Order: sequence, then structure tokens, then C-alpha cells
Amino acid sequence: MRALPPSFTPYGWTMSTAEAARIAGVEPWEVLRFDGNTPPSPPPYARPETVAAALEEVQRYPHGGFPTLLDAIAAYAGVGVEQIVLGAGADDLILLCARSFAGPGDTVRVLDEPTYPLFRIASWLAGAEVGDDDAVVTFCCRPHNPTGALGPVPGARPLVVDEAYSEYAGDTAVGLGGVVVIRTFSKAFGLAAARVGYAVADADTAAELRVRQDPLPITTFSAALALAALRAGPPDVHETIEERARLADRLRALGHEPLPSHANFIYVPMDKARERYQQLLQHGLVVRPFEDAVRITVHTPEANERLLLALEQADR
Ligand code: PMP
Repeated sequence: MRALPPSFTPYGWTMSTAEAARIAGVEPWEVLRFDGNTPPSPPPYARPETVAAALEEVQRYPHGGFPTLLDAIAAYAGVGVEQIVLGAGADDLILLCARSFAGPGDTVRVLDEPTYPLFRIASWLAGAEVGDDDAVVTFCCRPHNPTGALGPVPGARPLVVDEAYSEYAGDTAVGLGGVVVIRTFSKAFGLAAARVGYAVADADTAAELRVRQDPLPITTFSAALALAALRAGPPDVHETIEERARLADRLRALGHEPLPSHANFIYVPMDKARERYQQLLQHGLVVRPFEDAVRITVHTPEANERLLLALEQADR
């Protein structure tokens, strides 16, 4: 195999729910996850009926792909259907963009690090280096993971903007020249396990991306779920946004200084972040630890109150 660079670190999931339950001495269903940046419950369109028709034709390939879904995504994104590239989640499209734009000997720039680790991983897997000079492509996460910040769209071109959380921010780089925008059904649409994402680019770039991808990146089940999601109308994120504000207020009342967030998570700088992570784990509460902060996914008010109580105890 082609060797990976010495600095290569594979994607690291936080611990499994089963392991968290074992550590906390509770049942797996009692574990509350604040680390995945996904909604607390499945959306109403995630029903067996939604995938029933796909099941009746499961023995066949979906010849002709997913034109209805592509039309619905194009209408939702406000672009032409020739501008859409489907993928198995945003991750698949990040990998596709990295290998399409970059190869051995090239440099890829990743802005605002530390950020979503897959930009680096995808660049390294493509054989490229990550650095600042003479980059063949630049990756940017907007809103930014992990801080939730919404900076201006960078001027670098070509630019890949990861908009996994754009619905919570109400802002987009779609339509800017030289920009590929990557979106997902995993966050505001609540379909993380279905693995559906899409890229929006100018028609020529989209065509170039399509010839470099997996012949059939999503399943008929995932396509049916994503189509049902779009038919239900734009995702309603207002409850999450209200709860995000309430959670930030409550964190401030406990003496923390959460960063302003444009996503469905809050970045909370704190000393001894790893220790806090371990303490919260003992309560069956899983947050995402960083060097000097924890990132907390906005959960239900009840779940958030449990986390706040445990944090308060840990802070004493
Ligand atoms: N980009 C960012 C910034 C993310 O936080 C995530 C979720 N971990 C992804 C992409 C991956 O999304 P998907 O489930 O669509 O692959």
C-alpha cells in the first residue's frame, strides 16, 4: 500500500454508547449523547412506510439513479439539478473533493484549525500534504465545527465550504464562483444513520466531481428518507435555536463563557476539560472533549438540565 504520512491520524469516534453505559453503570438507553451534533429524536418522516417501496425492489439496482431526489435537492438549494452531486453523507463528499482537487505532491489548505478532522484525513488519503502555501484547494467549515462561529466566506479559490450546519445559521456560500458547498441530511434533517449528503457546485465542477465518485454512493432506502424529508418542507430548527440560547444562558449562570454559536452545539472553554469529560461520563453523559473546552450538542431541555446539574457538581 501507499504509505500514509507519519502525522496521519485516523478519524476517532468518541466511545460507543455500550461502553459509556458500562462506565456509568447504567443501561445503554439511559446514556445521553451530547457529542454527535444530531437532533435528540428521529423526524416524523422516518417511518417504515417511507422505505417500504424501496424494500419491494431491493433486488435491483436503482437504474437511472435518483432523479426525483436530485430535483428536490436542487429546488431546496435554489440551484439547477446539474449543480448537485449526491454522496453518502458530507464525509463522502469531503473525500471526493480532496481526491478530485489534490494528489501526491499537492498542498491542501485547511482553515481555522482545529476543525473537522476529515479535511486533513481526506487530503492525506489523496496523497497530498496539508499546509498553507500554494494550496490547490482550501477547506473551510462554516458554521465552524467545533466553535460554532460564522465567519465571512474566505476569499481563497477553489474553496470547499462544509455547510453541515448551515440550516442552523441561515447563511450559505451557495452561488459563489469557485466554491463547492457540501451539505448533509445528518443534522437539521435528522437522518445521520441514513448517510445522505450533497455537494453544490457550478455545473462543470459538479460533472467533474461526479465522474470521480462511487457509481452508486447512496442506497434506495436513504434516498427515500431524504426525499421524504424534503417533501416535509424545510427543517424547522427554531426549537433547537431557542434551546441553544437557553442552554448558553444557563451555562453563563454557572460561570462558564460559552462561545456564540450558529450551529446545534455550543463550545464551552473550560479548565481540566478532559477531567470534566470523565466526570460527566460517570453520569452517563457523553460530551466531546477538546484540549481546553468541551463541545455540547443542544439536546432536549430535560437532557440539558441533567448535563447542567452534573457540570455544576463537577465544578464544585
Ligand atoms: N462536516 C462536519 C463539520 C461535521 O461536523 C460532520 C458530522 N460529524 C460531518 C461533516 C459529517 O456529516 P455526514 O454525517 O453527512 O457525513
